[in-house]
Amino acid sequence: MTEKPALLRALNNEIVGCEKCPRLVSYREKVALEKRRAFRDWTYWGKPVPGFGDAQAQLLILGLAPAAHGANRTGRMFTGDRSGDFLYAALHKAGFANQAASLHREDGLRLKNAYIAATCRCAPPENKPLPEEISNCRGYLERELEILKPKAVLALGKIAWDGYLEILKMRGTIASRALYKFAHGAEAGPIMERADSKRRPCRAVSEETSKSLYFQSLVKRIGRQSWLQKCSPVLLSFRRRRP
Ligand code: SF4
Repeated sequence: MTEKPALLRALNNEIVGCEKCPRLVSYREKVALEKRRAFRDWTYWGKPVPGFGDAQAQLLILGLAPAAHGANRTGRMFTGDRSGDFLYAALHKAGFANQAASLHREDGLRLKNAYIAATCRCAPPENKPLPEEISNCRGYLERELEILKPKAVLALGKIAWDGYLEILKMRGTIASRALYKFAHGAEAGPIMERADSKRRPCRAVSEETSKSLYFQSLVKRIGRQSWLQKCSPVLLSFRRRRP
């Protein structure tokens, strides 16, 4: 248990130095050099963005990839963009974060019982990583899952949803991703997850709504210790509909 922070630190150091995807290396550095006008005084991070949060987390939140002028600028997941404002406000309300604001890496934000990762650690052009880039990056997520052993995975969008299911498939936990379609408002399951040689039930739930209230209530529900304890692991999904 005490070694988790050290393992995550080592993994994050590795992630930050990664150059496996030439297209993304070139894009993240170009964006960091050119900058957006509003952030011209910033020194952009311009590197892969490591995971962030509590090393003892039971909840893993899985995003798609850093935003070009958000996490690629600040160097912390979901920090410095509107998605982050939305996410951290909900996490704060549910008791997972000590504050709602997420502005930069030294702003004092701390997560409790939650850890944030992404299927792709570098900002992709038009927010669309290529399949081979997701595949290049998958090993980092696999190692995070091995270290954290989360009780719940909250996938923010279809790519994150599929990214996690692909790992379950590769582990032999599920036969096919097709059985767990990312269908808004649908509930699929149960998935049978193999853990410690025992088969445990878990559910796959997919929801989409334009109302942040729904997301807040979802995160609040996850935040109840009893909910997190009752079923291991759970896969949930949420995608915010663009206004
Ligand atoms: S997307 Fe992942 S694998 Fe590709 S360069 Fe970035 S960190 Fe490395």
